Amino acid sequence: MTNTDGVKIGLECHAQLLTKSKLFCSCSTDYHNSEPNTHVCATCMGLPGALPVVNEQAIRYAIKMALALGCEVQPEIIFDRKNYYYPDLPKGFQITQYDFPVALNGLVRIESASDSDGGRGKEREIRIRRVHMEEDPGRLVYKGTIDTAKYSLVDYNRSGIPLVEIVTEPDLRSPKEARIFLGKLRSILGYLSVFDGDLEGAMRVDANISVGGGERAEVKNISSYKGVERALAFEITRQKNLVRRGLKVTQETRHYDEVRGITLSMRTKEFEHDYRYFPEPDLVPIHISELVEEIRREIPELPDEKKSRFITQYFITREHANALTFDINTANFYEEVASKTDAGLSAAWIADVLKGELNYRAISMREATERISVDAFVAILTYLKKGVITDRGATEIIREMLDHGGKPDEIINRKGLASIGSAEAEKAVLQVIMENEDAVEDYKTGKNEALNFLVGQVMRKTRGKAAPKDVNEMLKRQISKRENRK
Ligand code: ZN
Ligand code: MN
Repeated sequence: MTNTDGVKIGLECHAQLLTKSKLFCSCSTDYHNSEPNTHVCATCMGLPGALPVVNEQAIRYAIKMALALGCEVQPEIIFDRKNYYYPDLPKGFQITQYDFPVALNGLVRIESASDSDGGRGKEREIRIRRVHMEEDPGRLVYKGTIDTAKYSLVDYNRSGIPLVEIVTEPDLRSPKEARIFLGKLRSILGYLSVFDGDLEGAMRVDANISVGGGERAEVKNISSYKGVERALAFEITRQKNLVRRGLKVTQETRHYDEVRGITLSMRTKEFEHDYRYFPEPDLVPIHISELVEEIRREIPELPDEKKSRFITQYFITREHANALTFDINTANFYEEVASKTDAGLSAAWIADVLKGELNYRAISMREATERISVDAFVAILTYLKKGVITDRGATEIIREMLDHGGKPDEIINRKGLASIGSAEAEKAVLQVIMENEDAVEDYKTGKNEALNFLVGQVMRKTRGKAAPKDVNEMLKRQISKRENRK
């Protein structure tokens, strides 16, 4: 466990917008399965004389994000040049926004699960300082690792992709809280249909960290959600060790090595004035106030509201509501299933079982719904309710459908998953009692684990095709029957 006393973390989160074309040219943003440098033009390659033309869709999406994060959208935006050289930035400057960003002063609520409160999180408010737009640079592909590479290749397909940068105040207090915040951010943005957190590189984070009021270090370009927590934990320990040895933390920019899980010094931290920001002379200021009310009406029900509604409308637990509303595809799937069958049962089977199986396979809910339709899921739950299959049979069907496809009834037949009748279960119960005299005696002397053991034996004998609850009852009944006979 990292000691997190006096820790302050602020994040700069770069979210990629789901526009069809880039921010300042008409090149396609759909580069993920393309050869390098096939989605490029004079503008996004920064060739002399090429002029930027603003993509209005990107501005609308950025405003939508800002509103969903509770920000005050500004009346006017101005694009600026941020001047620096790097091979992935062919113009020698990045077009971003400095003094006139899209929005200021937002707020995101998170449930911060601290270890002392038994997992039930306390609400924390994380302030959003600003939301601005900028273009993505290209991508450097190092031949070797970043420190040992002899050369690197550049792919400009990503150059000019619209990004929204969301900057928090240094309100986060631990790596875990940072991860929870990013999860919440991903969740909110995913609801807006302008961002897809499943896409590679969809969210990239720079983190500012200080301990005990010392200087802050910035860790650049962390590209995975897990990476953020690990990078921060490493950085906090590094800074605390410096302080303990009486040394000072220097203000610097560090690189996160994902493979080794460590941060490395890149350069002493530059200051904002080093970038010589000035208004982009090829673009005019853009008034956006008239767009705001129209876009506000497009904001859908967001995760927090949906969670509250699920709890009151479907009488499900807070934990289930949390799990079901985290991503919009899961929430929609749940509501469709719940409209056709038992809402409580649906919640448990989607939040506890289906999501667990998806995590295990590292597939998203969207991919899952291509393999298990709403109707198929409803069919599984209906068979379960009618006692046609047991819990174990239902889980088996879900796994089979995720891995190989198929239909519930066909899988029940093919794999022989239909639950056995009570007569057959009773037979197995009697057999188990006879074969496990010791356990039966233990149970009679009050050891409840012995009963669990016996239930397990019956489940094994019936290959999971008896309902554990029934087996439990049968065992108790048969054991007391034998007792009375003695
Ligand atoms: Zn282009
Ligand atoms: Mn940035």
